[in-house]
Amino acid sequence: MKNALARARRRLVPASVLLTITHRCQLACSHCYEAEHSASAQELSFAEWVQLFDELALLGTLELTFTGGEALLRPDALALMAEARRRQFAITVFTNGGPITPEVARRLRELRVMGVEVSLHAAHAALHDGLVGRQGAFARAVRAIELLDGEGVPVLVKSNVLRCNALEVLSLEALFAVRPRVRFLSDVLVHARDDGRSLAAQRPTGEQVEAYFDTQVARLDEVEPLLARLLTVPDGYLERDACGAGRTFASVQPNGDVLPCVHTPGLKLGNLREATFSELWLSSEAVRRMRAVTVARFAECAGCEYRHVCAKCPALSLSESGELTGHSRQVCDRTKAFWGAVKRRAGGGGLAPRPEAAEPARRTFALPVIA
Ligand code: SF4
Ligand code: SF4
Repeated sequence: MKNALARARRRLVPASVLLTITHRCQLACSHCYEAEHSASAQELSFAEWVQLFDELALLGTLELTFTGGEALLRPDALALMAEARRRQFAITVFTNGGPITPEVARRLRELRVMGVEVSLHAAHAALHDGLVGRQGAFARAVRAIELLDGEGVPVLVKSNVLRCNALEVLSLEALFAVRPRVRFLSDVLVHARDDGRSLAAQRPTGEQVEAYFDTQVARLDEVEPLLARLLTVPDGYLERDACGAGRTFASVQPNGDVLPCVHTPGLKLGNLREATFSELWLSSEAVRRMRAVTVARFAECAGCEYRHVCAKCPALSLSESGELTGHSRQVCDRTKAFWGAVKRRAGGGGLAPRPEAAEPARRTFALPVIA
């Protein structure tokens, strides 16, 4: 997979494309990056999406991710996924779980989707329902996970680590103790809303981020390989891309706007009703700007001991500093908290063993390490 991505990067293949097929959503999450939650008349039609699939197949795209809003609220969502599968794309579906009925879970199994990622932000109803603004959402998300797992569909439970649930996400795994195939992913970064509104009040505090990484790192089998990466500065790392946005990754909005990343709403490549995806991907000014972002361009990081391992996010840089290569406080805090936890676990010299009390690691977390 790593080699395929490296090849895609060299050849500028949009290997993975995120499709926001609707903004419609039945929830109102306090930390949602989307300002709009209803369907719009501007949404691409079924035929327009399928036309895009044909073009992406020719360009060599491997994976399509269907998201929303709540993607499955679009009435033809499953039919669109079937068209995508007919073209051999690997499919991932993001959902809040609400629309997953036994029939939908079965259909997703029949479509052989690569995985379904269900958002769940707390281990009990009161907190999750409060966070997403809808009573009963927790029960429906849990039921969706059970139905999907029951069908053998790979499920990833995704959580945002926020100020109000920072410790809570660490106990989610216990909920699905009898379902060993279910995986978990959480992250401490909170993106701005796509209308520019800051969601800074939702972010976990510095102490919470530190406690989160201490717990997560304690559950890793070993930290030696990570320390080896920290101690080995690779040649040429400054010329590396900051991330795959605009190189191997693109995002399409419900109205056909193409973005390098769903979190860069101000950096539009163009619209599919005015140009083909290929035209936008190959020659738009926005994509050129994104492709110019290398590690070396983050000037404020010069001299930092973590520069070669720090996973940058140009979208957060843009929203926090106004520049794709500006300083992101969130990225910086995350990187330093993570490596601080790694160093503490290693015990400053000889590597400390994994603590006895730690539970076996079934959880994964967004590793703030450059790919
Ligand atoms: S690292 Fe940031 S800019 Fe890059 S794809 Fe991820 S969210 Fe988008
Ligand atoms: S930890 Fe902070 S200063 Fe260091 S490379 Fe990352 S963002 Fe830059």
